[in-house]
Amino acid sequence: MNRTSITLRLVAALALLLLLLPLGAHAADAGAHAQNAQNVQGRELLSQLIAIDTTSEHGSTTPAAEMLARRFVAAGFAPADVQVVGDDPKRRNLVVRLRGRGERKPILLLAHLDVVEALRTDWHVDPFKLTEQGGYFYGRGTMDIKGAGAGLVIALLRLHREGFTPKGDYILALTAGEEDGVANGVQWLLAHRPKLIDAAYSINVDGGGPEIRRGKPAVLSIETAEKVYLSYTLTVRNPGGHSSLPTPDNAIYQLARGLDRLSSLKFPLRANATTRGYYAQLATLYSGTAAADMRAVAHDPSDPAALARLAASSPYNNALLRTTCVPTLLAGGDAENALPQMARATINCRLLPDEDPDHVDAMLKQALADPAIAIARVAPAQPSPPSPVDPVLFAQIAAVASSLWGPIPLSPYMSAGASDSIFLRAAGMPSYVFNGIAYDVDDDRSHGQDERILVSSYYQSLEFNYRLLKDL
Ligand SMILES: [Zn+2]
Repeated sequence: MNRTSITLRLVAALALLLLLLPLGAHAADAGAHAQNAQNVQGRELLSQLIAIDTTSEHGSTTPAAEMLARRFVAAGFAPADVQVVGDDPKRRNLVVRLRGRGERKPILLLAHLDVVEALRTDWHVDPFKLTEQGGYFYGRGTMDIKGAGAGLVIALLRLHREGFTPKGDYILALTAGEEDGVANGVQWLLAHRPKLIDAAYSINVDGGGPEIRRGKPAVLSIETAEKVYLSYTLTVRNPGGHSSLPTPDNAIYQLARGLDRLSSLKFPLRANATTRGYYAQLATLYSGTAAADMRAVAHDPSDPAALARLAASSPYNNALLRTTCVPTLLAGGDAENALPQMARATINCRLLPDEDPDHVDAMLKQALADPAIAIARVAPAQPSPPSPVDPVLFAQIAAVASSLWGPIPLSPYMSAGASDSIFLRAAGMPSYVFNGIAYDVDDDRSHGQDERILVSSYYQSLEFNYRLLKDL
């Protein structure tokens, strides 16, 4: 091949490229332009939300709900589809409906508006002012969960602006009282306005999401189940008397002996569909015995020896594989110089979703082995059945996630804690907890000082929401 032919070929290739360039560049420009506008709007909205103090102590969710409602109406949403509701004037909720074609049932999108308290003196920046620094957005609620809540608002506004009509309605609920349970918005809506939020399933952005490992999003966690919270008091009563005249029966000793017996109570180990899926996914990130044990637990039925080894390997694995009960409070006695008339312990249990609370009562009674120790539930258990791992939905989420972060596996998981999804699941509505804000699992500052999210993660999440809501 001579020089001239190489040059000719180059010229031909360049000409072709120039011919194609304007088309491709134009489409890319439009996409980049829309994303830029989305980022500008997303930043501005997050900044507005952070600046509204929605703590239970000194703040209120109402101004945040009203500010967003005005925005939706100004954008052209029918006022009837934008409702600020709730009994408590300081704790109102916002419900917005983006109307679809009626080809599927509505999907509920959920975030809470309230945040936990933050003291200016504890922070290096003002917690109620959005601050960008070193690639992060700082502010109370950036991570829990105004960042993801703002992301849902931005997505609905953009879909509406572009004239996009989804297959079915999207219902956005931004609620109060998640953090302290006072005037909980989801409970209120279920009790008073169930039709307003009736949906096939819900996406709650209050957890989960792409986990950054070794510098990039490596797995997208979706919470499909939560353990059930149930506390008990154990009480021993005694006539008491003067402490100079001790009697053989003593309320404090009697309770202490019962607690000692209780310390060896272990609930049976077992995996459910969610934890099996979780360990199957996690096994791919480990090697050796740990990986083999995870695979053996992921198999149905699980291998009992592998279950035992895995549970013993960390408090977290133990919590995922069994119901747990642990004493958390202790009280007793009346005076330094009096025999105790009462001794009381509080036991906090976290039940596997399919555990029968009556069975837990019976197990405690048997372990305490003393009918004089009175057992009482502090509050009724809120049973919360796991949501099914829906293969169609999971494939849709995986496709959108891969378009942003490359091939990324989805991992269902069961939370040892609790979110508003327990109320929805208990009411019969499946709930999936995840969002699109990629985060480093070792840098989770929810509820803590200098709460932050990566700026790049926030902007990517806006695109993730937009693409996902176009698909569902
Ligand atoms: Zn939260």
